[in-house]
Amino acid sequence: MNLLEKCKEKTIIFDGALGTMLMESGHVSTKSPILLNLEQPELVADLHKQYYDAGSDVVITNTFGGNPLKLAAEGLEQQLEPLNRAGVRLTQTACPAGRFVAGDMGPCGKMLKPFGDVTLEDMQENFFRQANVLIDAGVDLITIETMYSLAEALAAVSGVRKAGDVLLLVSITFNQTQNGFYTMMGEDIARCTSALDDAGVDMIGANCTLNSSAIIGLTTELRASTAKPVLIQPNAGQPVTRSGVSYYEQSPSEFAADAIKIKDAGADMIGGCCGTTPEFISKVAAALTGY
Ligand SMILES: [Zn+2]
Repeated sequence: MNLLEKCKEKTIIFDGALGTMLMESGHVSTKSPILLNLEQPELVADLHKQYYDAGSDVVITNTFGGNPLKLAAEGLEQQLEPLNRAGVRLTQTACPAGRFVAGDMGPCGKMLKPFGDVTLEDMQENFFRQANVLIDAGVDLITIETMYSLAEALAAVSGVRKAGDVLLLVSITFNQTQNGFYTMMGEDIARCTSALDDAGVDMIGANCTLNSSAIIGLTTELRASTAKPVLIQPNAGQPVTRSGVSYYEQSPSEFAADAIKIKDAGADMIGGCCGTTPEFISKVAAALTGY
């Protein structure tokens, strides 16, 4: 059974944050978290296992920063294949039977012309190169996430489609303004969902920036604008620092109580973004079980 079929049976639980947890573990300071796939694989695999144990149906690989353009900016361009391949293997190792591994693709870190210096063809090619490794390594689906530009999201979609036939989920990052929800590039929800529907993606989501309370209203709008399964992954509020210790504003219980409202607003799949931990996901899974 693939994820689309499973989606018809139950509310799908995704995982929570990986990057912020890896940073809090003290193992990542200036280095890109993706390096840990080779340098400290047991740390990454253990985090994945904690999420599956907490009830995640889908866990996302530690390959958010695995786009060749992003890797090149850090002098890691030679390691495109080993870093992405190891990321998939570590998640597969932790994945129990009947659950899913999502190959993660984040932004490439560059902007398209005329705002930046990358051509559309170049951007598509770089997403293609990462997708090629993830698909070859055997992911169950690909997630393109934290996209703050619809044009970049569509470039990523075409790169993935060129690389192979795989279930594809795209999550866009929206900010809340007085006039509604918009991407950083000024695109509204309806514009994003209609373009992603036309591009033939299988699932559409929103992740990052908004907390679990603010994202409820966005969920209603997103649900109304597409017939595709919808994934919602809010942050646990904003990061705050007190006495040198940084943490996120929302508690796991508060987040889980909102998960019910997010479900009611029409989400088919729920997970967490920055600041969420296995405890958040465990509380979300408990809140949604039997609901
Ligand atoms: Zn986030």
